[in-house]
Amino acid sequence: MRAMHAPDHTSPSLPATMPIAGHLDPVPVPRPGLIDGVTPREDGRVDLIGLPRGRIAELFAAAGLDAKAARLRAKQVFHWLYHRGVTDFADMTDIAKAMRPWLAERFVIGRPEIVEAQVSADGTRKWLLRTADKHDFEMVFIPDADRGTLCVSSQVGCTLNCRFCHTGTMRLVRNLTPGEIVGQVMLARDALGEWPKANDTRIGTMAGLDFDDDDEDAASAYTSDGRLLTNIVMMGMGEPLYNFDNVRDALKLVMDGDGLALSKRRITLSTSGVVPMMARCGEEIGVNLAVSLHAVTKEVRDEIVPLNRKYGLEELLKACAEYPGASNARRITFEYVMLKDKNDSDEDARELVRLIRQYKLPAKVNLIPFNPWPGAPYECSSPERIRSFANIVFEAGISAPVRTPRGRDIDAACGQLKTAAERKSRAELDRLAEEKQAALG
Ligand code: SAH
Ligand code: SF4
Repeated sequence: MRAMHAPDHTSPSLPATMPIAGHLDPVPVPRPGLIDGVTPREDGRVDLIGLPRGRIAELFAAAGLDAKAARLRAKQVFHWLYHRGVTDFADMTDIAKAMRPWLAERFVIGRPEIVEAQVSADGTRKWLLRTADKHDFEMVFIPDADRGTLCVSSQVGCTLNCRFCHTGTMRLVRNLTPGEIVGQVMLARDALGEWPKANDTRIGTMAGLDFDDDDEDAASAYTSDGRLLTNIVMMGMGEPLYNFDNVRDALKLVMDGDGLALSKRRITLSTSGVVPMMARCGEEIGVNLAVSLHAVTKEVRDEIVPLNRKYGLEELLKACAEYPGASNARRITFEYVMLKDKNDSDEDARELVRLIRQYKLPAKVNLIPFNPWPGAPYECSSPERIRSFANIVFEAGISAPVRTPRGRDIDAACGQLKTAAERKSRAELDRLAEEKQAALG
């Protein structure tokens, strides 16, 4: 989704004064008052959500437990938090009764606050969420016949200025913490009623066992079994590779077999092309990669994805070819938003095929009909144009599905993650854009 920049919505050519997007790399977002990636709470207690076992053990030790007890309690609490979804220490039945209030005095089990929850006619759900320090962001759940996909945000706003993306009318407020990222998935499980029940026979075999991140069988057997929430895409607000550490730490908890236990094969991270972070994404997170390509020439990509001026097509496609873990079985997804008379010609389609072949990319292409928003400088391509484009790619042997827009009646569709609550006046938008420009120097 697009970032804060506003004054150029009416003209498709970029103003000369526009800052080069992403020239701070990765973007160091000031987060005053944040300690160790945990958003401080007014009551002084520490939110455990987002912390790994080792960190929980350190906090327990700092609060007075001896090292061995701290480690044991941390392991138990970790299981209750991330595997069972418990939100009250009183429900942690294998922890001594007297210890539960001790925990509750010092720690909390947080969730992002729900400001608003909406359900679309097609079953898509959208939540407007709020951090403990009162920043709003969004999350979307898209149910399909064979899967349910949660679209998770990584930042409040975005520093990049993709010109077709509506998040652009928000300024970047800050990176989300690991707790705020994994908290979205936990909240979705709360809302869908998908935590394992106490009488679930699988608990007996799963509880207390240590699974490492690569224990695919344990993780996927556990999650795909009749659940609604089966897949995660990092395609909400923000650029996940500009908040790499927090996204990685959150996804580790999602993939942990004793945590949320979702297989890395069911998680996709979408980037607009932050080339220097792509290899680390494959190595340290190991999830599927989606790249917001959207154009096949320097001229057009420079305009619609301004980060291209920093990391050009050639560099980007090379990084895709080298993405750790990519193979014919685990293809890279190229997202391509269909913009009328901008990037949608048969020639563009043929160039896309040529590039995929030239770089020998195990790739599939996701064609996304552009979701217009008020003041957007583009229009969506016609259905015939999209069909013609898709056919050329498909006939070259590359999968090229056209994404069906979902949840349009509640503004939940791609690039629309912005609610009435966040809509700002023209004057306000101009002021924010000026502030942003000043901040970027
Ligand atoms: N920042 C990351 C992930 C979030 S955007 C990225 O850019 O990849 C998720 C996807 O939605 C991207 O492919 C983005 O280009 C697309 N998108 C944004 N605005 C859109 C719009 N108005 N219509 C259709 N797709 C859009
Ligand atoms: Fe939108 Fe993604 Fe571009 Fe940010 S990087 S402006 S979220 S499309």
